[in-house]
Amino acid sequence: MIDFHCHLDLFPDPVSVADRCDKDGIYILSVTTTPTAWHGTKKLERSRIKTALGLHPQLAHQRGSELPVFDKLLAETRYVGEIGLDCAPEFKGYWGDQLNVFRHILAACGEAGGRIMSIHSRRASRPVLDELQSNPDAGVPVLHWFSGSLRDLERAIDIGCWFSLGPAMLQSSRGRNLAARMPKDRVLTESDGPFAQLSGRALLPWDVMLATRHLAAMWEMTHEQTALHLNANLKRLLSDGASG
Ligand code: MN
Repeated sequence: MIDFHCHLDLFPDPVSVADRCDKDGIYILSVTTTPTAWHGTKKLERSRIKTALGLHPQLAHQRGSELPVFDKLLAETRYVGEIGLDCAPEFKGYWGDQLNVFRHILAACGEAGGRIMSIHSRRASRPVLDELQSNPDAGVPVLHWFSGSLRDLERAIDIGCWFSLGPAMLQSSRGRNLAARMPKDRVLTESDGPFAQLSGRALLPWDVMLATRHLAAMWEMTHEQTALHLNANLKRLLSDGASG
């Protein structure tokens, strides 16, 4: 199983979640929301748990001052996230800060030789794609919980984006409609726990099983074939993706 976008450090008992994932052999990309969370989150690494260095767009106005910390740590990882832009009403007012932070990070990733990046694009898929296109050396973008238009989806596919999809996204027909148009060889699963919820409960990494089930139905494959296909995708991303 693969959870390519999870906020492991934000669960009430992160150590026991990490231990269970380790025991169950779940591959995790443990994303951070601020650069200063890096060291604490890295302590949760196990053999299949990797930590991504991030600065969440919803925190750009409060934590933009941590960019020097980001720059200092970037050499230590090949994964960056959660980064991106958010144009929901409550964050629109900080658009300038968000753009500064996102542009700084994409440029830094480019200078560092490219990174695998987990990217947030809520109500902002078009500007996110504009920035990615302006920074082609930044690495491989993995758009997490993509919810843009079909047109933006086509553009994202054209510029080489990957997609990570979770049970909450695949719960809606709109999400499934987008997922059905994504290239099967550029899709991974995610939980986005504990932020993402299903039936009023925070999702846990092993809930990616539910996303795998949706994908199996969509791709008309067995659950086992789907899991193998997703593993092969991850392997290819890690071998072709930005080395750093
Ligand atoms: Mn997230």
